[in-house]
Amino acid sequence: MSEANATNLENEVKIQNKAVHCPNCGQLMLEPGSLINEYWDSEDTVYYCWCSNCRWKGEVREVSRMTATEPAED
Ligand SMILES: [Zn+2]
Repeated sequence: MSEANATNLENEVKIQNKAVHCPNCGQLMLEPGSLINEYWDSEDTVYYCWCSNCRWKGEVREVSRMTATEPAED
């Protein structure tokens, strides 16, 4: 197996382990007919999705860093 194939396989496994659901109807994006495409934007992982159930399409973003204000420590 070449290095490129191994990388692709790792990427597929990673996507399949992500339970990305449609924000509109809640269907798992890994259902047959739905589309999920993973890419990276800066440090974030973005899943471009098309739902075969309700035909919603858009992006689900997994942020690597929260930019919200941290709660004060006691
Ligand atoms: Zn949907």
